[in-house]
Order: sequence, then C-alpha cells, then structure tokens
Amino acid sequence: MITNRSANADILTVGMDVGGTSIRASVVDVDGQVLDTMQAPTPQSARSLEDALDRVVRELVSRHNVAAVGLAVAGFVTSDHGIVLFAPHLPWVNAPVGKDLSVRLGLPVVLEHDANAAAYAEYRFGAAAGGRNVVTVAIGTGIGGALLIGGELYRGSYGVAPEFGHVQVVPDGRPCACGKRGCWERYCSGTALVDTAIELLAEDPAASTVLAREVAVDPGGLTGRRIANAAYDGDPLALATMAEFTHWLAVGLAMVADAYDPDVVVIAGGVASSAPLFLDDAREQYATLLTGAKYRPLARIRAAQLGEAAGMVGAAALARSAVPGVISPARR
Ligand SMILES: [Zn+2]
Repeated sequence: MITNRSANADILTVGMDVGGTSIRASVVDVDGQVLDTMQAPTPQSARSLEDALDRVVRELVSRHNVAAVGLAVAGFVTSDHGIVLFAPHLPWVNAPVGKDLSVRLGLPVVLEHDANAAAYAEYRFGAAAGGRNVVTVAIGTGIGGALLIGGELYRGSYGVAPEFGHVQVVPDGRPCACGKRGCWERYCSGTALVDTAIELLAEDPAASTVLAREVAVDPGGLTGRRIANAAYDGDPLALATMAEFTHWLAVGLAMVADAYDPDVVVIAGGVASSAPLFLDDAREQYATLLTGAKYRPLARIRAAQLGEAAGMVGAAALARSAVPGVISPARR
C-alpha cells in the first residue's frame, strides 16, 4: 500500500497521560517531538474527568491542527482501544471513554495502557529504536511490563499481559500485595531497595551510618532514591543493597529473555535514572544466567530515554494509526 509520506509527516496528534493525580497532554509530531503541553488535576468523578479531558484537548486543538487523540491510561483497556475496563486510581469501570470522547471532540480517540504506550514510544523514538522484539521492564514502586513482538504491542488474550513483576523468583519469599510470596518486584523495585536496606541494617546497624541515622530519625522515610544517592556516595550498606537489587534484576531479565528471546530490553521507571549504579553489572550477570549463554546473541539492555513524556508520546504515536489514510510504521 502506498502512503503519502509528506501528508503523513504534517499530521499532528495529541497524546494524553491520564494518571491518578494529573492529566498531562502534549501535541506531538511525526518524529515524536513534543510541540506543546498542558496539565490539569485529575477530577474525582467519571463525568468531570471526561469534561476535563475534553477541555484540555479543545485548548490544544485551538492552537494546532490535530488529527487524532491517544490516551495513555493507568488501567486495563480493551483490545479495540475503546473501553477502560478498570483503572485502580481513576473513576472508570467498564467505561466507553474512547467512543464518548471521540463523539464529543469529533476526532478519532485511541486508548492504551500507559506502560504499553510508554514502551511503544521507546520503540519508535527512544532506547528500543531499531529493535523488533522488545521487552520493557518499568521499575518503580513495583514492576510494570510491556512486550512488542515484531514491532506490535502484545496485550495477551484479555489485555492484561504481561505481569513480569509477579513471577515468583524466591519460593516462600517476601509477601506481595498480589497475595503471593517471593514475586520478582518484591526483590527488584524501589520498594524492594528499602526492604533490603532495612534487612541489612537489622543484621548490622553499624554498616551504614548515613542510612541508619535516616531510619532512626524517620523509620518510614527511607526511599529507593535516598539509597541510590547513598550508593553514589560510596556508602557500603547502600552499595550492598544495590548489589542485591542488581542480582535479582539479572535473574528476572534472564527469565524474561528465556521466555521471549528479545533483541532489546528497556529498563524504564523511576529506578532507570539510577542505571549507572547497576546496569553494567546487571548485563554481565544476565549474560551468565541466560540459558545457552555464550552460544546465543545477547539482547541489548538499555535504560529508557524518554522519561516521563514517554506515555504521552507513545499514545500520540499510536493515535496516528487511527487517522484515515495513515499506515502505522509497524504495519508497513
Ligand atoms: Zn506479587
């Protein structure tokens, strides 16, 4: 199929990140460049949330020639990209948000899970550019995952895949909010960094004067970020905590790679900003843990490049495929 490249190149789309506390929206061009951005607080009711989305898009449409809208939603979205089944931090249950907004705005509207949208942005414009089979592991409070197979997002049969974070790595290990024990994210996340540091401190309170003092002053105040900062400063206990994290990161990545054989793995989420502390070691350990190590090409393991804009940029890029006459790159 022949597409009109110059016409496609001029098309702008809006990408929105609909989170529990704020709505962010950007006008994005064909190269993933953000041209304009707006932000608003997330209202509590479904009706006022749709009103707020409508207002924000109209404001951007008044300033730019927008052809479609993509929403990155922190929740489960149907595979036709129209209905939000459930979103833990949003007032939507089985809500036809895509259709409703499309009617209100007179524009095509595409919904996508925020982790998928962010992974798609990294695939098109960031750390996974040039890859084909891409695994994204977003490490923050827990672990979020996304999969691109042959450049297409894989969503599973019911739109909930993949849940890498709840694969068990330690039998009878730390309890997890999901109800199981020993899940990967209980050993490899910002939360896990805190748990490990507290465990190591309990074993040897003298191992870190910096973190011991912080915990003594404010027992609940320790964060993954503080541990990372202490590790940058050479604190022995923080370094031991990072080493533990790195080990479990490598174990989990080897499992994921054994299952999917990706050519690129992207490490995203808040923890990605501390990649210099762990990524080289994780790559090295991963290379020894992989089945058939030494006898197979290794996936490139890279830190995400697009930061917090990734969800919006990815949603905007996915929305382009809903514009009549535009063929998405993956399907060319
Ligand atoms: Zn779990």
